[in-house]
Amino acid sequence: MALKDLPYDEKYYDAEVETLPREQLEELQLKYLKEELKFAYENSPYYKRAWDEAGVSPDIESLKDLEKFPFTDKQTERDCQGVGSFFGELCCVPEDEVVYMATSSGSTGVPTMSPFTQKDFEDFQHAQSRLFWQTGMRPNDRYLHAMNMALYVGGPDVIGAQELGALGIWVGAVPSARLLWAMKQYQPTYMWSSPSYAWLLGQKAIEQGYDPKKDFASLKTFIISGEPGGSIESTRKAIEDLWDVKVYDFFGLSDIYGACAGMCEYKDGLHIIEDQILVEVVDLQTGEVLGDGEQGEITYTTLLKHARPNIRFRSGDIGWIDRSPCKCGRTHTRLHIQGRKDEMFIVSAVNVFPSDVEYVVRNDEGTTGEYRIRVYDENFTTKYEVSVERAFGSDEPYDEVAKRVEGELKTHTGVRPAKVIVYDTGKLGVSAEHKAKRFIDERKHNA
Ligand SMILES: [Zn+2]
Repeated sequence: MALKDLPYDEKYYDAEVETLPREQLEELQLKYLKEELKFAYENSPYYKRAWDEAGVSPDIESLKDLEKFPFTDKQTERDCQGVGSFFGELCCVPEDEVVYMATSSGSTGVPTMSPFTQKDFEDFQHAQSRLFWQTGMRPNDRYLHAMNMALYVGGPDVIGAQELGALGIWVGAVPSARLLWAMKQYQPTYMWSSPSYAWLLGQKAIEQGYDPKKDFASLKTFIISGEPGGSIESTRKAIEDLWDVKVYDFFGLSDIYGACAGMCEYKDGLHIIEDQILVEVVDLQTGEVLGDGEQGEITYTTLLKHARPNIRFRSGDIGWIDRSPCKCGRTHTRLHIQGRKDEMFIVSAVNVFPSDVEYVVRNDEGTTGEYRIRVYDENFTTKYEVSVERAFGSDEPYDEVAKRVEGELKTHTGVRPAKVIVYDTGKLGVSAEHKAKRFIDERKHNA
């Protein structure tokens, strides 16, 4: 569905759907959900078996009926993969209908394959176009796509930029010197990367004698995703100041789409494309569905996907949702993701996320903003220590930096770190071209 002829000042890519009153949006979701459940039950050996065992029927009456259905997760995907057919027991179409597959990074075990039919792929790209438009991308934009194209679900997002009429410049994941050359040569207006890479690339540009603000003056928007940093105001601000751009956070997962949700101009959470994905937040222990604003595990159900429907997929992300209408006029739920379940640590009965630490460090001007967290057990108690870098050119004594950061961490998270270790600029060694390794977990049992 090409909507290239939309006027540039049209605020919404798909006005009718994006601003549907809640009640109608839920009616639409229910219609799609009924079809999706029926399709999954009839075509996936796994869903048929799991739902028969759980005593649930795909013939539902309300959205609330979904709460009775069993969850799936990464392990379900792994267990079903390759069983009975190439894509396995969760796949609902014959292999000859699958035109594209992405895989997970494999960072938490065997990579899982995520198959798409042609229609799934078109829905995916239509969703990307809508999220790009929401950030202000228009047909006269030049989008330089510096994402990994190899197996990674973010790879094809460039097609979403092209669908709305922008120029797609397919650069891919190349070494930073090559990327900076391409940026200089083709003067893009839009780019997308992880927050840590957006920051690192700016540092590399400076090292190579560029002035990020002047030499790349055409660049006006950076989309970031893949790490919680994008939702941390101080992290976004640091990238905005470095490049003189606007920064928007997007969120996606290999199991569904490259981006399932993205920020609008108000940046108060990420609008999830609710006409394609139903979101629930569930209690970590009991699995009970929680209300708006309550913190739990974010769980997704695809409404349109056919190659592999995800029904109540527990993502491992912790956060909350806000269903109230946004100031931008969009009615689709806003997601607030705080971090990964396996990276949450509990200190003195307080839940702490690496993103809380990042917020503090990025706000402290006496540091470079880089950090590393080590979580460990001592005397049957979980403790955390944080390493930071002293700001470039600063001669503030290390112990004063440590004391201040310690106090700020206590204020923001509610619990004091066991220790703050201060390194000199650039000595921490956490920067990475893809995702930075900033979290060291030495706990005996994860939370
Ligand atoms: Zn909004």
